[in-house]
Amino acid sequence: MTDLPARRLLLVHAHPDDETINNGVTMAKYAAEGALVTLVTCTLGEEGEVIPPELAQLAADRDDTLGEHRIGELASAMAELGVTDHRFLGGAGRYRDSGMMGLVQNEEPDCFWQADLDEAAGHLAEVILDTRPQALVTYDSNGGYGHPDHIQAHRVALRGYELAAGQGHRVARVYETCTPRSVVEAGFRRLAEAGKDFPFGGIAAVDDVPGVVDDDQVTVAVDGTAYADRKTAAMRAHATQIVVDGPFFALSDDLGQPYFSTEYYRQVRGAELPSSASGRGDDLFDPPSGGAA
Ligand SMILES: [Zn+2]
Repeated sequence: MTDLPARRLLLVHAHPDDETINNGVTMAKYAAEGALVTLVTCTLGEEGEVIPPELAQLAADRDDTLGEHRIGELASAMAELGVTDHRFLGGAGRYRDSGMMGLVQNEEPDCFWQADLDEAAGHLAEVILDTRPQALVTYDSNGGYGHPDHIQAHRVALRGYELAAGQGHRVARVYETCTPRSVVEAGFRRLAEAGKDFPFGGIAAVDDVPGVVDDDQVTVAVDGTAYADRKTAAMRAHATQIVVDGPFFALSDDLGQPYFSTEYYRQVRGAELPSSASGRGDDLFDPPSGGAA
């Protein structure tokens, strides 16, 4: 790419919808501020469950056309977030969704879990060298909740970071997406207080939320309150995967969860951010508030 914007953020995710659930306001905020926001999605999410009954035939055990459908959902979600640079690792359909851990789909030769790490990371390194991001966001080493594609996305992101560094671009800071325990607990209290018109089959537990960490592990909190409606709209665009009701949502398990318009990050590579009074920064690119502009 030529004429790159001054600030460049790269996100590496496993399936269409993960980017919006985890980082939707962050992506919308930086895109609106003129940063280059690049999303790399590693699979098409072919093995996902389908929530709307009228779309049930898309599922892998029926027509197996969910991946194609989710390309469209992702494009609609990115339009809501104002993100124009979204790509699939190695091209759309290169790596197939591996399904939940322990399923026979984990053994399919074309699934992402079976991918050669250096080959997959090589595709990512190409994107890094093309877009030269200063900040890279992915999951923790458990993929947030143990899904094989999320674990593999973490490995590919860090290996791609190393490969690109050896080829001329070292990303300044690498972050894992996370949510502080106190915030998750407060979110569930709000959900419990939300009243009797609750549209979901049940309420999820704190431990169902991916990437929950102790509060002192959080390095940066990005306040995206002004973009909360964008995140909601993008979540609705992933209609086969997510049901949204006000500030709450449910996945195919039909268990209500709070969603967050402040998103949290733990830095794992790169120059340490100077500490602020709160111990947290508010910008993935800059030192914590009160620090440099
Ligand atoms: Zn996922």
